This record gives sequence, structure tokens and C-alpha cells, in this order.
Amino acid sequence: MDPRSINKKKKKHSGGFQSLNLNKNVLKGIYKMRYNVPTPIQRKVLPVLLEGKDVFAMAKTGSGKTGSFLIPLINKLGSHSQKVGVRGIVISPTRDLTLQTARFCRVFSSFTDLRVCVLVGGQSMEEEFHALSSNPDILIATPGRLLHHINETGLTFRSCQYLVLDEADQLLEKGFQQQLMDILRVVSTTRQTVCVSATLPKLLVEFIKIGLNEPQIIRLDIEH
Ligand code: ADP
Ligand code: MG
Repeated sequence: MDPRSINKKKKKHSGGFQSLNLNKNVLKGIYKMRYNVPTPIQRKVLPVLLEGKDVFAMAKTGSGKTGSFLIPLINKLGSHSQKVGVRGIVISPTRDLTLQTARFCRVFSSFTDLRVCVLVGGQSMEEEFHALSSNPDILIATPGRLLHHINETGLTFRSCQYLVLDEADQLLEKGFQQQLMDILRVVSTTRQTVCVSATLPKLLVEFIKIGLNEPQIIRLDIEH
């Protein structure tokens, strides 16, 4: 037997990124990030999100949650759309996290022509208006700044297919609940929604009931 075919077989069944049936440009982005093997949370979350289901994922900080929601987002959108407008939105509790997620997203999507736009406090609104008018596919934002744009310009996201609430426990702890509700009102209700968190406070349980549609609950904090 040709030894290369054994290798191939082994790879396909190893539970690696290549067994997920991802677009090859997405796979190239993953390897550019130097991710060779998915982390445990990625292994559980990726197949469910790739099926199009809503997910609430809970795992401790540093477990690789960013990749678990960005990879399906980029795979779902595929390439830039000149006509449709924003199709993916990631909301994070802080400016630093937003900027870091945007950096990850740009590397993951670097073999696609998807356009990523960042909206955070401390940047000029003018520049953000300009970026918004250049037809981004993905917005990565803090809730306050995103809502500011919505209120200033009447922006809506009726074509949004994928919404992420990153560090949802922190979003609620920082008192962004009302802002999140206001944002949800202008986002398509047929979207896929992902919520990731390190903890599950009571307020978040309530929010998940409102913001997610029959979510799969994936928790790595519980020993099975
Ligand atoms: P979390 O959001 O759960 O706190 P991150 O997504 O920020 O975790 O990931 C923590 C660190 O681990 C980051 O530096 C990230 O690039 C790295 N990482 C995540 N997934 C992988 C992977 N599959 N292979 C190698 N490094 C990874
Ligand atoms: Mg994180």
C-alpha cells in the first residue's frame, strides 16, 4: 500500500480542521493563524455552528472560543458581497477585545475578499462612517459604539445572517443589556446567533432565551 494513502486516511479521521469540510480558503486562514489542531471547545462548537444552529458555548478564558465562532462565520459568508451589506456582526464588551477579534478575523479571512469593519470608542466617527459606507461584510464592535451609529444614521441589519455575542457575561456585567436589546431590534430575526461566555449568571440565562433560537448548549465547565 502506498504509505501516503495511510497518512491521508489518518488525517481525515483525526478530528482536525480538515475533516470539517471547510472552504479551502478558510482552511488556509486557519493554518496562517498557526492553528493545526482544534481545541476541545472548537471541536465541539464548530460542527454545530457549521450546521447553522444557534449555540451558547461556555468554556474558560484561553480555551479558543474566538476561533470557534469566527471560522464558521467566515465559512458561511465565503466572499465579499457588493449588494447585500453587513452579513456578520460580532459584539464584544471592550475596545481591546474588539480590536483583537478584528485582528484574528482579518488573518482567518485573509484568503477571502471579505471586508471587516471595526466600530469602537476612541476612533473617529467620521472614519467609521466612511468605513461603513464601503460595504463591509463583517462588523466587529462594542455595543455602545454600534448603537451610536444605529441612532445617528438609522442603520439597520436586515441582511445579517450571523450574530456573535462574545464574552456575554461581561457584556451584561458592564450593563449593556439595554443596548443589546436595542441592537437586536434592528438585526434580522432569521439570523444564526452565537453566544460565548466563561460563566453563566442568571441575567445571561434570561438573555439567551430572548436572543437565541433553540440553542445547543455546549459547556466545557462540567465534567462528564
Ligand atoms: P478565549 O476566547 O476562549 O479566551 P482565544 O480564542 O482568545 O480564547 O484563544 C486563546 C489563545 O489560544 C489565542 O492566542 C489563540 O490564538 C490560541 N488558540 C486558539 N485556538 C487555537 C488552536 N486551535 N491552535 C493553536 N492556538 C490556538
Ligand atoms: Mg474570548
